[in-house]
Amino acid sequence: MELNVVIILGLLVAITSCLEKPNIVILFADDLGWGDLGCYGHPTSTSPNLDKMAAEGLKFMNFYSTSPICSPSRASLLTGRYQVRTGMYPGALECGSIGGLPWNETTIAAQLKQAGYGTAIVGKWHLGVGREQQYLPTNYGFDYFLGLPYSHDMCPCYVCFYPQEACYDDCRPESTPCPLYENDKIIQQPADFLKLSETYSSAATGFIHQMAAKKKPFFLYMAFQHTHHPQFSSKMFTNSSIRGTFGDSLNEMDWQVGKIFDAIHGAGIAKNTFVFFTSDNGPSLFRGVRGGSAGPFRCGKGTTYEGGVRMPAIAWWPGRIAPGVTSELTATLDLFPTISNLVNIAVPTDRVIDGIDMSTVLFANTEGGRESLMYYPPNPTPSQGVFAIRYKEYKAHYYTAGTGLYPKYYPDPACNYTKNATHYDPPLLFNLNQDPGELNPLNTSGFPYKEIVDTINQIKIKFEAAVTWAEPEISKGVSNDSKPCAKPGCTPFPQCCTTNDIVPGTTRIIHPGLL
Ligand code: MG
Repeated sequence: MELNVVIILGLLVAITSCLEKPNIVILFADDLGWGDLGCYGHPTSTSPNLDKMAAEGLKFMNFYSTSPICSPSRASLLTGRYQVRTGMYPGALECGSIGGLPWNETTIAAQLKQAGYGTAIVGKWHLGVGREQQYLPTNYGFDYFLGLPYSHDMCPCYVCFYPQEACYDDCRPESTPCPLYENDKIIQQPADFLKLSETYSSAATGFIHQMAAKKKPFFLYMAFQHTHHPQFSSKMFTNSSIRGTFGDSLNEMDWQVGKIFDAIHGAGIAKNTFVFFTSDNGPSLFRGVRGGSAGPFRCGKGTTYEGGVRMPAIAWWPGRIAPGVTSELTATLDLFPTISNLVNIAVPTDRVIDGIDMSTVLFANTEGGRESLMYYPPNPTPSQGVFAIRYKEYKAHYYTAGTGLYPKYYPDPACNYTKNATHYDPPLLFNLNQDPGELNPLNTSGFPYKEIVDTINQIKIKFEAAVTWAEPEISKGVSNDSKPCAKPGCTPFPQCCTTNDIVPGTTRIIHPGLL
């Protein structure tokens, strides 16, 4: 063969492989804090699969979610937009919520479907169900859904640990039993927590193998129930960790991560698969030893201190992402434009996308992160606006507030519910590189910090002048006819909503801690 023909063939192979669409996997933990993983320094966690992912991939030190609670954070991840633009506020959707993610929002799944991808969500959705089940994931670009539509404490909870150990509390007895959906059908109610992780990992790995066999690029959004309250695990992981029940749950989540990596390697697609791991919000510190850890950061879930929104994050793609660590400022918002650009799909131009393309951070481990980031509380209002702004290594708090998620005896009074929203003018300024625990406000009365505050004030004014707040979907309230029920119209409601003949709760045992 002529040399130039060989060169041309080589170029064609190179071009074809460049054009091959990468598979995209997002692994999304729930209420897992920055300090919970072994690879982020926790002394008693065992998370070998995530630790391996971190060793082989890029670990983020300054990665954020947009909210310290679930629904708004998930909306931002999937749409690349702050929650005040999508209506995913105030608070989180409940069992029976009437509202949901507006249909005109475009998700990463919808983007990738346009590009010919197979798309699946396995796990927790938490962006709505609705009276007509019109807010379930299959309405937003997902071909397949297997999972719970919200947090598993938003229903009565029964058995959490093998063989018959009760969940730590009652969760929500007024709700219908936890519904496990496949697409828009309830296939199990109540969901069996002791088998749920196995069910999820079978669905996820089955989807990966199915797509690989068809040679179809895919998007898998694996949204774990772990490590949200109440902690739970199967026989394999009950009493598996010296960290206690949180450690057992984390072990089970990590096992699911390992199953997904096994499937990716087993299908021979590792070199063409981008995997990103992060969490939706900070740890439930108010659960004590049954909650997570924010590491060096202040407060946790429910607050706009760093513990509420600074997330562990790891990017993995062998051959494309070099092992390393980045301190670039990045956020869940940035996955939407980054993934869209990666597969060459234009981002919508009829709306503001708050994310930035972080490709240079991912693929060259160089600059290219954000200059600033907005922090919104769980219940944002237009009159208060953003609670804090991150700008380079600085953070300015315009408001701080504790949350009812913390008991009054919580040792840091800044986090607990007795601390009402407090306004600061000038804002409280911290240097997060030097003071990650936000304990030492800087003197902003003169040089150099007055200038930093002036700059951040200008960013705030410009940003807020341009924000259009969507109607708050979560304020639409709840109704019984929006509560998922396998036997619509049955009595006694809601206990009768089951896929079996045993009315849950009639034989339940009470956790000794509640007696
Ligand atoms: Mg959460």
